[in-house]
Amino acid sequence: MSPLPSTVLSRADLDFLLHDWLRVGELCSREHYADHSRETIDAVIDLSAELATRYFAPHNRKADLTEPRLVGEEVELIPEIGEALRRFAEADLVGAAMDSEVGGMQLPYTAYLACMAWFYAANISTAAYPLLTTGNANLLLAHGTPELVERYVTPMIEGRYFGTMCLSEPQAGSNLADITTRAEPREDGTYRLFGQKMWISAGEHQMAENIVHLVLAKIPGSPAGTRGISLFVVPKFLVDEDGSLGERNDVVITGLNHKMGFRGTVNTMPTLGQGLHTPGGEAGAVGYLVGTENTGLKQMFTMMNEARLGVGLGATAIGYTGYLKSLAYARDRPQGRPAGASPETPQVALTGHADVRRMLLAQKSYVEGALALTLYCARLVDDERSGTPEQAAEGKALLDVLTPIAKSWPSQWCLYANELAVQVLGGAGYTIDYDVEQHYRDNRLNPIHEGTHGIQAQDLLGRKVLAGGGAGLAALTDRVLATCARGDAAGGEPAEMAAQVRSGCEDLIAVTGTLAELGSADPPAMLANASVYLEAAGHLVIAWMWLEQLLALGDRTADESDSFAAGKVRAARYFLRWELPTNDARFALLRSADRTTLDMRDEWF
Ligand SMILES: Cc1cc2nc3c(=O)[nH]c(=O)nc-3n(C[C@H](O)[C@H](O)[C@H](O)COP(=O)(O)OP(=O)(O)OC[C@H]3O[C@@H](n4cnc5c(N)ncnc54)[C@H](O)[C@@H]3O)c2cc1C
Repeated sequence: MSPLPSTVLSRADLDFLLHDWLRVGELCSREHYADHSRETIDAVIDLSAELATRYFAPHNRKADLTEPRLVGEEVELIPEIGEALRRFAEADLVGAAMDSEVGGMQLPYTAYLACMAWFYAANISTAAYPLLTTGNANLLLAHGTPELVERYVTPMIEGRYFGTMCLSEPQAGSNLADITTRAEPREDGTYRLFGQKMWISAGEHQMAENIVHLVLAKIPGSPAGTRGISLFVVPKFLVDEDGSLGERNDVVITGLNHKMGFRGTVNTMPTLGQGLHTPGGEAGAVGYLVGTENTGLKQMFTMMNEARLGVGLGATAIGYTGYLKSLAYARDRPQGRPAGASPETPQVALTGHADVRRMLLAQKSYVEGALALTLYCARLVDDERSGTPEQAAEGKALLDVLTPIAKSWPSQWCLYANELAVQVLGGAGYTIDYDVEQHYRDNRLNPIHEGTHGIQAQDLLGRKVLAGGGAGLAALTDRVLATCARGDAAGGEPAEMAAQVRSGCEDLIAVTGTLAELGSADPPAMLANASVYLEAAGHLVIAWMWLEQLLALGDRTADESDSFAAGKVRAARYFLRWELPTNDARFALLRSADRTTLDMRDEWF
């Protein structure tokens, strides 16, 4: 008897997306990825699936029930988190997508994200530690001096140091222009930092020899706003020239935030420069400037863009595992009979009811659509890294415009998938006896961190689609329309879907023009529509992803003989028939440039 399919993630779906659709193996004919092959890629994914299932999934609930505790200056976590991360690092996964010259595996980014999807689905809060660490290391590889790289990045890749990103402050979340953490220059070229950070994930724990904080701060006299922000490495322990740990730095956790989900990722309030430690006999957290003064936010975007894709993938993975678990439950639970059936007949499983199938199909269409989008974005990263100059430029242009969508759409709709998973289980879904309620709570973070939904919307409409006089939008719509042309050529259902997607694409182009015109006279009126615009663009992009998947099935027969293909076709059909038409209302609202929210006043609430 074959083993039960995994409820963490679907390997069959990943294989289809990676190999049948994105042809990841072909990347290995490029020089950059010449050391890899389909076999090595599959082997790393196999390993990730095994580690995620064996070491990450089992403590997902325990970490949720056993919140991190601050004891003195130290944070206590359940030991299983450290054990899982030790296994992760031993498998060389921290540097899996980094260049071999810095000690990485130089795996195609698409394959790397497929690996990470297993860890995010199995246990998002344990997997958040390496997400932050790799993002931190990649930023330093892009902008740090060789000395900073040697001192901090190498131990991060080896799994000895962990990283954080310290942007937010109590008064500055969405708008980092208002940060007040101060960095005073010292004669030896270092800086001393003073201030209060807020919400910092993984800010303290005993799982690593050292913690490398990347901190945004302002140097006195620097320009106001974001143009005066600089970036610093602030290690928990100073590192001596020979790599050994030196004095304890003056960065201390003074409180923890207690959250509704993601509880295994400790969330901290670091205080810098309070004199709780006095490195070099002086209060002030020692910091090392990354790059040049006042360019910190630009550099931070290296990490934030990567993290945004990671957040989108995390949201997708949590949605995906919730879908698989609700499907397994629905197949197993007898309840009632089909409408009109005699009470003498046996009960049917929940999947015997069309409304339950609706909830399962909705989840399937969201999570498989979102997984396709995040992997497609990863494939664009690979084009940037390893393609011809034309492929790299096209990849970058498209990635710029897709990143806010890839962050926000899964965060909204795979969260909704988790809500549907709870609903599929009925009363059981509302109890802690089943995982789906935790998945919902965990996933609720994703529309908030790494730039809220509203901030992503402003980024998409206010910057990305209008960039280069509309070149951003064209980068996207050209690709969408090219897929539609392939759909036309295929005929049948793909051609029908292509007509729908093309019509949606034309709506998006027209409405972007209307909003751009509005924005040139009245920017707040344009941005008041940004969230609806993001949602409309997101639905269109996912419909495009479904058309792509349909085409990737080729001439597979979508019936009993091939249930994978049959399921894909039904999920594509569901999305195109039940979801994409909801864009009509969004486009109508956008066309009307409605001012209801803009003109509403505080005192009228
Ligand atoms: C669990 C967790 C982990 C986190 N981890 C980190 C971390 O590791 N490092 C880090 O630096 N930060 C971290 N954050 C902080 C996170 O990035 C911020 O919470 C987020 O950016 C929002 O900032 P805020 O909480 O101050 O909300 P606010 O900025 O006050 O926003 C509140 C609401 O107002 C809206 N809003 C705000 N400004 C505007 C505007 N100009 N236009 C339209 N709408 C607006 C927002 O969209 C949101 O809905 C974390 C947060 C949480 C909850």
